[in-house]
Amino acid sequence: MNSVTVIGLGPMGQAMAHTYLDSGYDVTVWNRTAAKADDLVARGARLAPSVEAAVTANDLVVLSLTDYDAVYAILEQAPAAAFAGRTVANLTSDTPDKARKAAAWLAERGAVQITGGVQVPPPLIGKEGAETYYSGPEDAIETHRAALEVLTRIDHLGEDPGLAALFYQIGMDMFWTGLVSYLHAQAVAEANGISAERFLPNAVKTMDFRYFLEYYAPRIAAGNHEGEVERVAMGVASMEHVLHTVEASGVDGSLPATVLDLFRRAAAKGHGEDSLTRLIEVLKR
Ligand code: NDP
Repeated sequence: MNSVTVIGLGPMGQAMAHTYLDSGYDVTVWNRTAAKADDLVARGARLAPSVEAAVTANDLVVLSLTDYDAVYAILEQAPAAAFAGRTVANLTSDTPDKARKAAAWLAERGAVQITGGVQVPPPLIGKEGAETYYSGPEDAIETHRAALEVLTRIDHLGEDPGLAALFYQIGMDMFWTGLVSYLHAQAVAEANGISAERFLPNAVKTMDFRYFLEYYAPRIAAGNHEGEVERVAMGVASMEHVLHTVEASGVDGSLPATVLDLFRRAAAKGHGEDSLTRLIEVLKR
């Protein structure tokens, strides 16, 4: 029978453990707050009495924790020998450096880490289209491909254990700033009596950046920053209008002010006539 250990039963870990049970796996779980395993145990999962018992129960140990501090708080409860020969699919989000250090920590104990960055919320685990960034040794991923694919599709980025964390974080960089830009615009809309439902179709169109990304990426790669379509100077003028509109609406202007500051810094460096892609150089320290 296929079997797996899941450590960490927050919303994500619970979704994963339930999905394994749905797929007929023999599931061992462990969680700091043991009561969160009740529903899983009722469905046939085994609650390990200790971290050591959870780790040694299966070759594949899935971790789904808040951060890597939680990873160590848990794994350090087991003796080093417990990890020998295990593969730890660490689906805990944190920084690339911490992912690399955890891979080394596990390697010292004879285990292999596969780092994962899950790209979907818990209800989509096990559903069509769900995907996870993975990085780590190809052979470990291939050995456990079937078990990992019970949860989501695999996007294997490479061997470096930090790579999955890096892709996850740059995705979050876009996600959070993009999402907050929508909420900011909605605050301005509401201050002017425009409801979220009224603004929705326009917001959806504006948030579709695909055209720009596909236009910019090859030019960035080629080092071509000519301002043929848009220029930094245009960005400065536009963001000044945005900031005035925001402040006149009584809405916090710190977000557009930060963008305006970036545009102005690029212009001050002599890039006023260049494409906005010059911001990449201004941003890199
Ligand atoms: P949670 O923050 O809810 O995970 C909580 C888990 O971590 C629980 O098992 C909790 O134990 C445990 N934990 C936290 N701190 C400690 C500690 N000091 N010692 C022991 N255990 C600890 O996160 P989610 O379940 O939502 O997500 C898990 C991971 O998946 C996160 O890294 C998250 O970024 C990532 N992710 C989540 C998504 C989501 O939409 N939820 C989407 C994509 C990725 P206890 O129950 O005892 O508190």
